[in-house]
Amino acid sequence: MTAETRHSFLDGKIKRLLIDGRRVESASGKTFASVNPATGETLAQVAEGDAEDIDRAVEAARRAFEGPWGRTKPAERQMILLRFADLVEKHFEEFAALDTLDMGAPLSRTRNNRRRALGMLRYYAGLATTVEGRTVENSLLGGDFFSYTLREPVGVVGAIIPWNAPLSSSLWKIGPALATGCTVVLKPAEEAPLTPLWLGELALEAGVPPGVLNVVPGYGETAGAALARHPGVDKVAFTGSHITGQKIVEASAGNLKRVSLELGGKSPDIVFADADMEAAVPGAAMAAFSNSGQICSAGTRLFVEQKIYEQFTHRVAEYGRTLRVGNGLDPEVQVGPLVSEQQLERVTGYLAIGRQEGARPLAGGERLTEGALGRGYFVPPTVFADVRDEMRIAQEEIFGPVISAIPFTDIDEVVRRGNATMFGLGSGVWTRDVGKAHRLAKSIRAGSVWVNCYQAMDPAMPFGGYKMSGYGREGGQEHLEEYLNTKAVWIRTDL
Ligand code: ADP
Repeated sequence: MTAETRHSFLDGKIKRLLIDGRRVESASGKTFASVNPATGETLAQVAEGDAEDIDRAVEAARRAFEGPWGRTKPAERQMILLRFADLVEKHFEEFAALDTLDMGAPLSRTRNNRRRALGMLRYYAGLATTVEGRTVENSLLGGDFFSYTLREPVGVVGAIIPWNAPLSSSLWKIGPALATGCTVVLKPAEEAPLTPLWLGELALEAGVPPGVLNVVPGYGETAGAALARHPGVDKVAFTGSHITGQKIVEASAGNLKRVSLELGGKSPDIVFADADMEAAVPGAAMAAFSNSGQICSAGTRLFVEQKIYEQFTHRVAEYGRTLRVGNGLDPEVQVGPLVSEQQLERVTGYLAIGRQEGARPLAGGERLTEGALGRGYFVPPTVFADVRDEMRIAQEEIFGPVISAIPFTDIDEVVRRGNATMFGLGSGVWTRDVGKAHRLAKSIRAGSVWVNCYQAMDPAMPFGGYKMSGYGREGGQEHLEEYLNTKAVWIRTDL
């Protein structure tokens, strides 16, 4: 291990699965390498979980759910979550560095996530004591009844997460699940398992009882699929691609487990000529280039009003060129590598498709291979102009730092064209006209509309998709609902 990649969690030992409060080998004894995408260097060997390990983890989670954890008071769970948040905060710098090493996002981003990551845990710790049912006056049924509802945890949750924000994705699922009294089997992405494993260990230290949070890294088709179809799992909370989302839904049919899906997008970011250009240029650029475009709600279809199209797209391209690309451990770096060789192939494939389709590259467009960058998976911020709606680069999720810029002339047209996608996750609107902003907020079929900003996120605000971007919401009160069942209780009082 080089000095550069030294980290307290990386001790040269195999990173084992976390099941029932213990670090254990995988049943098969197999391991896989976790690789730093900035250098191609192996960071750690990680135990490769498979169906048998998922069985063990689900059994542990079930025992914990039916054991003392199921009887904890909300205030106890609140205290445990707050202690967990304090521990994550204590080690936050190291968590940020571990995410950077494992999946490439620059420190400037992973560090910046501090308030939101911790806020998620503390927000759901706060909500733990607010879960309550209703007393209901029957609307037509005669007789004397006292009727009320109980809100109960759904049970064992299979949380399957991607690699693009390992710390936040883990916490976003762990927070509400533990707040409501569920237990969890967390399956991290094979590309970035380290932060979730460490989180599982810290959770134990914070007082989360053994079996309540199990972490089983492994591949999607094996460990992930086993979790999705497991009859002992009551709910799957999934974040990832829409193709995998479809497989999860199919796999869930066996026991009709509850499913929530936070999937991909091809989000429109719409810039009107009356927008504040000083805000819109960097805003539109970073909507697509943050995390090297590896964000499900990235604003990758940039619709620009015709009369400012040339000037605006050139300014965004210029902004993209000024961004510092490199190893994310350098605090000055703004754009890190793509997460893996496979992802690099996918993105460079789309760069070639864009050119073949006749789009005009204004910035970027080729993999970076000079010097140290050649060892990692680097693609610079790329802007394609002259993109037409039907092009593949305008319709398909690339998951790289690539903007497809499209001109438009009026509001009804841009609404129609902006909505002409199978996805519906994020969307952006840049205008000084408040009427236009509200009209668009109502007309865009997407789970989030950001006006004069992009990717604003807060633990209290719901986030999720329309259409093929999935269903269910993460964040806000809505997220708690995903982990709760409602029971109706009827008591006859006239006997
Ligand atoms: P991405 O393209 O972002 O890697 P994926 O949907 O492939 O998105 O991966 C997201 C998560 O889903 C990862 O943890 C991955 O291992 C898991 N996964 C992949 N395929 C399956 C599957 N068939 N069943 C369950 N989980 C899967």
